[in-house]
Amino acid sequence: MSKTQLVIIGGGISGSTIAKALKNKDIDIILIDKANYTLFQPLLKKVAVSTITPYSIATPYDSLLKSNNIKTILGEVTSIDKEKKEVFIKDKKIRYDYLVISSGLVPNIDSYTSWKEHLTTLKTLNDAINIKHKLLHFLEKLKNTQLTFSKNYITNFVIIGSGTKGVEFTSCLYDMFDNFFSQNKQINPSLVKIYLIEKKQTILPNHPTAVATYTYQHLTSKGITILTSTEITNINSEGIFFDKKFIKTNNIFWSAENVGSSYLDSLDANQSSSHTLIVDSELNISGHPEIFVIGDIANLLNEQGKILPKNCNLAKAQGKYVAYILKNRLFKNERPYFKYTNNCNVIALTKSYAIFSIKNFILKGKIAWMIWWCLNIYHIPGIKNKISIIFHSICSFLKIYPNTKLINLHIKQKNE
Ligand SMILES: Cc1cc2nc3c(=O)[nH]c(=O)nc-3n(C[C@H](O)[C@H](O)[C@H](O)COP(=O)(O)OP(=O)(O)OC[C@H]3O[C@@H](n4cnc5c(N)ncnc54)[C@H](O)[C@@H]3O)c2cc1C
Repeated sequence: MSKTQLVIIGGGISGSTIAKALKNKDIDIILIDKANYTLFQPLLKKVAVSTITPYSIATPYDSLLKSNNIKTILGEVTSIDKEKKEVFIKDKKIRYDYLVISSGLVPNIDSYTSWKEHLTTLKTLNDAINIKHKLLHFLEKLKNTQLTFSKNYITNFVIIGSGTKGVEFTSCLYDMFDNFFSQNKQINPSLVKIYLIEKKQTILPNHPTAVATYTYQHLTSKGITILTSTEITNINSEGIFFDKKFIKTNNIFWSAENVGSSYLDSLDANQSSSHTLIVDSELNISGHPEIFVIGDIANLLNEQGKILPKNCNLAKAQGKYVAYILKNRLFKNERPYFKYTNNCNVIALTKSYAIFSIKNFILKGKIAWMIWWCLNIYHIPGIKNKISIIFHSICSFLKIYPNTKLINLHIKQKNE
């Protein structure tokens, strides 16, 4: 008799947590992913600003999930037939008894057809490597151009979206330029300007007011311009347009909304306005106890009726919960509700500062940054990656860059 077969779509933080927890258990697992590695996305920004190497945040499935009961397939799922219990990769179909959908989100830029080509996203390893090369080329150019300071020569960098991702990327960008100008004193730092744009009234809209206020003060004190309540009206090759303002730039980074992928429409399940899948308190879609949805793609409300914020802690907790159900083969009526309470939050700012909050307690400064750093080291899979990140972070702190700042001559820039 064939064993129960579990198919997992996406081996990010949530999907790989399940697969790891079910290693060598009495269940056959097929994990399908577009990449042959799991990527630790929270540190993509550090790759983009050349603090760590791309390879220290990616772990190949072959080493992470080595087990007799796990098979990994490199491929992109294009549709799901929930009645026949089949998953499709182009024209190949794979049967399942249980299905876990953990394919995460994608930046919502496709709906902005004419802006899209001018936007840079930070979601994949390729995105981070491309940004890194763009920034390194720019800094090399700055070193070799004898510009006298004039308004026409200012290069603007614009980040759209001021959630945790946007704020942290803005901070990393600031640090990269700050280090560069401190090592190249002949160049005027006013040649570079950073803008953070938010359409809501405040930055970090999902965080406590005290956290948002401190972050606002911290970033503006570094000369970063923050524009809140600011609606973008157009983006083209000249720059970015608002109601009463225009910023000339070809460096626009998208850190605003993310959405679920279109292949999920084939599931014919309830979706939110951001195309995430609405799940019940056992993380199933309605009427299908064999289909679990976890991680960023799951739309789950907490006891107060608010959507749970999407982050690594939640993704891991959901992965562990589903692994427990599958390990014990619990029927729907035997399953405990998925419960999640995490009031703690940490946001990395510039110059090794961070803000850590837990309920009403707030800690700011270097110790908060150490907590942020330790949490990342704890979460990143693989001992080699942990060591590599510790090594490169120490080098970066000491302002020694062993190999993170190499420009790969085969990566062509858009303007070249
Ligand atoms: C730049 C950035 C910074 C972040 N910073 C933080 C932070 O500081 N703290 C924090 O807690 N969280 C942070 N996050 C969010 C965090 O990374 C996510 O919450 C977490 O990765 C969600 O995990 P997941 O398993 O749902 O999806 P993901 O980790 O996104 O994994 C999805 C996987 O599915 C695969 N996939 C997608 N579509 C398909 C398909 N059709 N077929 C096959 N495979 C597919 C992808 O290749 C990927 O491997 C950040 C995210 C980004 C992008």
